[in-house]
Amino acid sequence: MSPSAPTSSVAPHGRAGLARRGLMLVLSSPSGAGKTTLSRRLLASDPRITMSVSVTTRPPRPGEEEGKDYFFVDAPRFEAMREAGDLLEHATVFGNFYGTPRAPVEAALSEGRDVLFDIDWQGVRQLRETAGQDMVKVFILPPSAQDLEKRLRSRAQDSDEVVRGRMAGAAVEIEHYAEYDYIIVNDDVEESLARLTAILQAERLKIGRLTGLSEFVKGLHAAL
Ligand code: 5GP
Repeated sequence: MSPSAPTSSVAPHGRAGLARRGLMLVLSSPSGAGKTTLSRRLLASDPRITMSVSVTTRPPRPGEEEGKDYFFVDAPRFEAMREAGDLLEHATVFGNFYGTPRAPVEAALSEGRDVLFDIDWQGVRQLRETAGQDMVKVFILPPSAQDLEKRLRSRAQDSDEVVRGRMAGAAVEIEHYAEYDYIIVNDDVEESLARLTAILQAERLKIGRLTGLSEFVKGLHAAL
């Protein structure tokens, strides 16, 4: 990531002439906790946030679309992107490489749009170093280990061995919950979506994200 975090102040914020910096909303969870569904629902319900589509060396699962779920690349291509500095962050998860393409994120933020990331704790640590206040980190937990296993098995796209590996991976991911700002226990998608939306709305209103606020208040004050 470049030394200055890619943010901007161009998003209009209400009718008062205030503007807001784009924020980076990060969702992490063990796979199978319902994060993908939640991301899709949030994106469908809120036009002001766009998804950061990662590159991965993992093969596509049935139904996954190039450019929508991931950009599927081979290892040499991934390495080339990493070496060229085209990735904001990258990590190895379950033996595959994953990374966040830099350019689309910087473009979205510079237009004042918020960006949603589905990345793991390793990626969050890398982004945190430069994104600072612009990043809002949400951790999604499954209601129970049994529920997580059921969801992983019902996906029926991965082999038994892969499911076992992902259960072990879940334990590692969960150890990092304290590095996040918010926790959502996903026992009901509608309720979780409402919570996530509430977090996003509140974060958008943070004083530190608004520009033009002191001028606005001065004007208000002068007119009283
Ligand atoms: P899956 O293979 O199930 O789609 O994703 C496995 C894990 O990789 C998930 O925890 C997901 O959040 C994480 N992941 C996906 N894309 C990225 C990325 O670009 N960077 C990092 N650090 N993790 C990612």
